Amino acid sequence: MQWETVIGLEIHTQLATQSKIFSGASIAYGAEPNAQACIVDLGFPGVLPVLNEAAVDMALKFGLSINAEIGERSIFARKNYFYPDLPKGYQISQFELPIVGKGSLTIDREDGSQKVIGITRAHLEEDAGKSLHEDFHGMSGIDLNRAGTPLLEIVSEPDMRSIKEAVAYARKIHQLVVYLGICDGNMQEGSFRVDANLSIRPKGEEALGTRTELKNINSFRFLERALNYELERQIDLVESGGQVVQETRLYDADKDETRSMRSKEEANDYRYFPDPDLLPVEIDSARLESIRQGMPELPDEKRSRFASEYGLSAEDAGKLTLSRPLADYYESTVAAGAEPKMSANWVTVELGGALNKTGLELSESPISPEQLGGLLKRIADNTISGKIAKQVFEAIWSGEGDADSIIEARGLKQITDTGAIEAIIDKVIADNPKQVEQFKGGKEKLLGFFVGQVMKATQGKANPGEVNKILLGKLKD
Ligand code: ADP
Ligand code: MG
Repeated sequence: MQWETVIGLEIHTQLATQSKIFSGASIAYGAEPNAQACIVDLGFPGVLPVLNEAAVDMALKFGLSINAEIGERSIFARKNYFYPDLPKGYQISQFELPIVGKGSLTIDREDGSQKVIGITRAHLEEDAGKSLHEDFHGMSGIDLNRAGTPLLEIVSEPDMRSIKEAVAYARKIHQLVVYLGICDGNMQEGSFRVDANLSIRPKGEEALGTRTELKNINSFRFLERALNYELERQIDLVESGGQVVQETRLYDADKDETRSMRSKEEANDYRYFPDPDLLPVEIDSARLESIRQGMPELPDEKRSRFASEYGLSAEDAGKLTLSRPLADYYESTVAAGAEPKMSANWVTVELGGALNKTGLELSESPISPEQLGGLLKRIADNTISGKIAKQVFEAIWSGEGDADSIIEARGLKQITDTGAIEAIIDKVIADNPKQVEQFKGGKEKLLGFFVGQVMKATQGKANPGEVNKILLGKLKD
C-alpha cells in the first residue's frame, strides 16, 4: 500500500513586546522565578486585564504579510482548564473571530518548485506559566514569569504532503516573523514552538485519516525527527492491523520517539466563552493602513529584488536574504563599491565560513561591510588576485587595518608589468628543461606546474591571466 502523509502545523510565536498581553509586567527572559508576575498574571480575584496595543499591531503586521482576511472585530475568549501553572483556571485566547483570518504562504520545495500553504487563522493568546520539576523533591515548583506572555498562534491548513514541506513551512514562518520584527525567533528560549499534526491516508483517498498531535517542538531538527518517527509509527500500526487514535503525543528528543500524553480534547471540553472582562477589538481601516505603511520589505520581495537588481542566481539571492542583517550586510558591501556577484560569493563563502569557524554571529563580525567592499574593489581593479585577497581578508579579520593599508604594508600589489613577468617566466623555462621537453611532447597538464613555479617566484603576486597567456605563448614556440 502507498501512503500519503498529511501534516498541519500550529505555531506559537512569542511576540516581541515589552510587557505582557494583559498586564504591565516585563516579559524579559531569564529572571528569577516569579519576579515578573504581577497580580494580573497571578490571577488574583478582582483584577482586570488590559489589552496591550503593541501585541495587536504585531498580529496585524503578520496578517498583512500573509495577505490574510482581517475582520473589523475580534473577540477574546476564555479557554477553561485546570493546571497548576494556570492560576486563573482559564487561558485568555481567541476562538470565534480571531484577529487574523484566512491567508497563505508560499514555500519552496527541494526540486525548486513552489507550493502555496493555506493558513487557517492566527489568534492572540496569553502563555501559561511553567511547572519546574528538577529542583524539587516530591514537589513541583511553579514559575509564573511566562504567564501572560503574548503569543500569536498561527494555524495552518492540513496542506503539507511531506515532512520536508512541513519543515520548509515552519522555517519560512520563522523567517517571516523575525523579518517583521514581531518575534525574536529564539527557539531555545521557547519564543517559537511548533505543534505538529500528522495523519496518513492511502494514496488517492480524499478523506483525511486520524491525526496525532506532537506538542511543543522547539527546533527544526527535532520537528523533522519527531515527524519521521511518528510517520513510521503510524504506518507500522496501520499495516499491522491497528488503528491510529487521535491523541496528543510528546516528542522525546533523547530517546528519539513520541509518547502518548493524553487523548485529544475537543473544543467543547474547554467551554470557550467570550471574556466579559475584555472588550471586542475593533480594527479600523486607518489603523490597518498605517501598519501597512510601516511594513518592512518581506523575504520573498527582497529575494526577487536581489536577483534582478544584482543579477544573482535564485540560490544566492535566497541565501543572502535568509535574514535581514545578512541582506543588509550584503547591500552595504555592494554600496561600498564592490561588484555584486563577487560580493555574494565573498559574503556567503569567505565571510560565512570564517564566522562559522569562529562561532561568531554576523553582528560580531570583525570585518565591516565597508572593509569587505574595499577589499573586493582591489580584486576587481586587478591590484591583487583572488588568492592574495584571502590573505588580506585574514589580516583585516585579525585587526590589521583596511585592505589598502595591508596591501601597501605587506607589498602585495599584483605584478602586472608584462616585462617583469616575462623575465621571470624565461628564468622558469630555462631552469626546467626536462619539463619543457615533456610539455612539448604533449604533456599539457604541466602548464599547471609552470604557473605554480612563476607564482612561487613572485609570491603569488603575478597576475594569473597574464602568466597563463605568456607561458602558453613561450612554451608553444
Ligand atoms: P484543534 O481544534 O483540535 O486544534 P484543528 O482542526 O484546529 O484542531 O486543527 C489543528 C491543526 O491540525 C491544524 O493545523 C490542521 O491543519 C491540522 N489537522 C487537522 N486535521 C488533520 C489531519 N487529519 N491530518 C493532519 N493534520 C490535521
Ligand atoms: Mg489547536
